[in-house]
Amino acid sequence: MTDVYGVRPLQVGRHYEIDYIHSYGEVSDFFLGLKDRKLLATRCPKCGATWLPPRRDCGKCGARNEWFEAPQEGKVHTFSVLHFCAEAFLHEVPFVLAYIELPGIDTVFLTRIKGCKPDEVYIGMPVRARFRRLVDWTPNDVWFEPK
Ligand SMILES: [Zn+2]
Repeated sequence: MTDVYGVRPLQVGRHYEIDYIHSYGEVSDFFLGLKDRKLLATRCPKCGATWLPPRRDCGKCGARNEWFEAPQEGKVHTFSVLHFCAEAFLHEVPFVLAYIELPGIDTVFLTRIKGCKPDEVYIGMPVRARFRRLVDWTPNDVWFEPK
């Protein structure tokens, strides 16, 4: 079979594996905070906007943000029950991804809801943060559970 240019594209499968090293750059403190069981957010000193996940620079006015510790209790803003996902998490379906509202934070925080069945989650449900004891330096080091 040829494409419109008369090319016969040959596809060959090969195993590919690599150790990938990357940096979280200027939001590294967020991940370091998870290790210490803290949710670190950022606040703009100029306009007061607060961000979680953190942003190094304010998304509203561009000023350099400052770090502060966010509250760990809030409520479910909205959620989805996932029955299909990336391969790494397929063994966990169905599970809940939710946006969490936290007092004093202008954004919502995307995270997993654990500690209950997916059909027990509802909008407005009070939740609190939980942290992985042995971090793997990913957003999965934190999740929320019913309060
Ligand atoms: Zn600002």
